[in-house]
Amino acid sequence: MNKPNTQDAPIRCPYCSTEQQHTLYPVVDLVEKPALKLGLLTDSLFSVRCTECNNRFEVMHEMLVLDKNASFAILLAPESKLTEIKEPSEEIKNLETLRLVNTSDELKEKILLLDAGLDDRTIELCKMYLLMKMKRPDHSLLYADYQVGENQMLFTLFNEKGEMEETIQCTDGLYIKLVKTAQEFTLKKGYFLRIDQTWAFNEIKNSAG
Ligand SMILES: [Zn+2]
Repeated sequence: MNKPNTQDAPIRCPYCSTEQQHTLYPVVDLVEKPALKLGLLTDSLFSVRCTECNNRFEVMHEMLVLDKNASFAILLAPESKLTEIKEPSEEIKNLETLRLVNTSDELKEKILLLDAGLDDRTIELCKMYLLMKMKRPDHSLLYADYQVGENQMLFTLFNEKGEMEETIQCTDGLYIKLVKTAQEFTLKKGYFLRIDQTWAFNEIKNSAG
């Protein structure tokens, strides 16, 4: 890998227009710097406090998050409309899980799923089922948590404008039921793949057709 892990860049505050230096993380290696995971999960890695007016604002940029011990790499590409991006580096393309996401919320979701040992294909099928059952096809869900004692997963429901609406509970029975189906959808190796609700919808449509 030839990208540096950090990069100092001038950032302009959207409130007072003051330009200031900020450290960006084009590469977040969770084996070398495990503490950065908290920065990702709390959004502090994407947030800057202006040195002049003290307002907080968001800074989004492309970021590669990798954990070689857990064998995953997630590429956050905010502008990308692609559903897959080929990974040229040998050491990264052989990792077990390569995913492509657009937002820091999607990035967080993938990290939480990987940490919980859950399969994201199955999670996308669960979401599709839940949205159908709620008759809210325009809404979207993000995995939020797993409650061990209750044997249930928690999802956050967003409306079509992307506004948070409520928390949805889902028993892990649904997950267990869908795991086999999901694992029949084989994934291309060596590519960062976008595994989201559109992916799940297309896979189901193709398998039915
Ligand atoms: Zn400012």
